[in-house]
Order: sequence, then structure tokens, then C-alpha cells
Amino acid sequence: MKQDQVMERLLDAIRETFPHIALLEEEKMAAHCSFRTGGAVRALLLPGTEEELLTICTLCREAEVEPIVLGNGTNLVFPDERSDRIVLGTEKIQDLYLTPEGEIFASCGVALSRLASFACENALTGLEFASGIPGTVGGGLLMNAGAYGGELKDCVKNVRVLDKKSGKISGFEKKDCDFSYRHSIFQNGEAVLLSARFSLTQGDKNRIREEMKELNRRRREKQPLEFPSAGSTFRRPEGHYAAALIEECGLKGRSIGGAKVSEKHAGFIINTGNATTEDLASLIRVVQTEVYEQKQIALQPEVIILQG
Ligand SMILES: Cc1cc2nc3c(=O)[nH]c(=O)nc-3n(C[C@H](O)[C@H](O)[C@H](O)COP(=O)(O)OP(=O)(O)OC[C@H]3O[C@@H](n4cnc5c(N)ncnc54)[C@H](O)[C@@H]3O)c2cc1C
Repeated sequence: MKQDQVMERLLDAIRETFPHIALLEEEKMAAHCSFRTGGAVRALLLPGTEEELLTICTLCREAEVEPIVLGNGTNLVFPDERSDRIVLGTEKIQDLYLTPEGEIFASCGVALSRLASFACENALTGLEFASGIPGTVGGGLLMNAGAYGGELKDCVKNVRVLDKKSGKISGFEKKDCDFSYRHSIFQNGEAVLLSARFSLTQGDKNRIREEMKELNRRRREKQPLEFPSAGSTFRRPEGHYAAALIEECGLKGRSIGGAKVSEKHAGFIINTGNATTEDLASLIRVVQTEVYEQKQIALQPEVIILQG
């Protein structure tokens, strides 16, 4: 059977199983990714519950179609060209509660800002650093997102995942997640992260709130939040800061098409309005080349650009 027939059958099966599911056909991914670029995909599916997500994954597995999982799209950029992809968005999967053991249970689609606020409401400290990171629990754990000296690995206890190939659900204790700087075992692409438990310490609500306010003030002051971006473009090279290297190489303000190295924070490439994904990819290459020539340091992108 041809690939497009396989895809149509899969979509029919999903519609039949879940007549009311949000299934956006030929959806432009620019609307769902914070850099605001990306062409259409065959379909974006937004399951409302974990059960729906699991059933869709089973149907995809049976059709031998591998979906791309999307959190908040704040680190992921789609190609400009239309593609035949199926994208599975987690944004509607939003369970969040305190367990009898006093841990926080959060589904993959919960925003990190909401998770941090929930911790604050329950006078639990440890997630203040995450309150301004615009990703979800799923994307955040995959990236081991962090800021201001904190990382999700510091407070996650365990993660429940679906193995894409076998369809098996299993639990990973923190020690099995291979967390390190912006890294986790889940970057091997073999699993869908379903939920996680966070273990925090009792603290003072007002202090937690003040700390979050202060960190967000510092973020607004330093980062070009008034423009679309995908956050820090490059990983931090050992012993250096990417933004400082880029600035020292005279690359602040360098642009290609609508993509520009931010003048406010050289670690960010921003979309000044009409950027394409190709503009972003080209500018990343220019920055890498210049920094390597001048400093002999190879910058590695943190932003994930999907290939067409
Ligand atoms: C303005 C701005 C500021 C930022 N500041 C920070 C910061 O301070 N610190 C930091 O670490 N990052 C920061 N980021 C980057 C980004 O927010 C993080 O990397 C975040 O963890 C990405 O989460 P997401 O849900 O948006 O993931 P996405 O961008 O949607 O996806 C990222 C990757 O995770 C995969 N994925 C997502 N969800 C799942 C899931 N449930 N199961 C399996 N795979 C999944 C995707 O397929 C993709 O490979 C910033 C971004 C922006 C735009």
C-alpha cells in the first residue's frame, strides 16, 4: 500500500475511534511552535486524555507510522515545506495533583509554569526555577530543562513512559533517566513521556512566590521575550557561555532573512517577523562557523530543527 493510503486509513481509524477528537488536517506548525515558522503537516492530533494518546499510539504502531510528539513547541522547529507527518500534541493532557505521599503528579502536557505555581500553592519549594520556562513536563524532562542553577532532574522522582515500539508502559526512576545538562535518555526518541512525579521540600509560600517573581523579572530584563524565539539557540559549551562567545565574535544583530541574533541577548536567535526555518538553520550555521573560526569552539544547537 502507498504511504498516503496508509496515512488516510490511519486517520480514518482515529476518526472512527474518537469522532470528537481535535484532528487538524494540513495544519501549519508555525501556529504551534514558538519560533513561529514551520509548514503544514498531514495532521496534528490533540488527544484530550492519556487514554486517547495511548490508543492513537497503538493505531500508529499498527500502521507503522511514527508520530512526532509535540509539547509546547518551544524547542522544536518544523521545516518550511509541507510534510506527511502526523503530530501528536500533548497540550490537552493536563492531570496535576498532590499524591497521598505529598509528591506532585503531573501529566506530560502540563505547562512548567503551571507546575511551578501548583508547587507554590502547596508550599513546596524546588521548582521556582522552572516557572518561566515555557515548555511542558514532557518536553521539559526530555530536555532536562533548567535555569538559574536548577534543573528538572533535581526534583523529579520518576517518569512513566510508553515504549513506541513495544507499546509497553514502564516507569523510570530518576537514576535510570541518564539526566545531565540538557540531556536525558529520552532523547533517543524511543519513548513517549506520559507523566512524572516530583518530590519537593516543604517551604514558605510567600518566599516561593517572591523567588518566582524575581526570576521572571530577571528573565524579562535579559531575554528578548517580545520576539518569537525557540529560547537559547545553542547549548552551553563546557567552560564557556554561548552568548558571550557569539557577542565576542561580533555576531550580535547578524541576520539572515527574518532570523536575527538578538541584540538584547546573543544566545537567542529571534524571528523579527517573516523568518523561515531555513533562515534560522542558515544563521545557526553562520554563527557556528564564525565562532569556530575565531574561538575554535564548536557550538552545538539546543534548538531541535526537524529535517524535511
Ligand atoms: C522564550 C524561551 C525561553 C526559554 N527558556 C528556557 C530555559 O530557561 N531553560 C531551558 O531549559 N529551556 C528554555 N527554553 C526552551 C524550551 O522551553 C525547553 O527546552 C522546554 O523543555 C521544551 O518543552 P516543550 O514542551 O516546548 O517541548 P517541544 O519543543 O514541544 O519538544 C521538544 C522535544 O521534546 C519532544 N517531546 C515533547 N513532549 C514529549 C513527550 N511527552 N514525550 C516524548 N517526547 C516529547 C519533542 O518531540 C521534541 O523532540 C526556552 C524557550 C523559549 C521560547
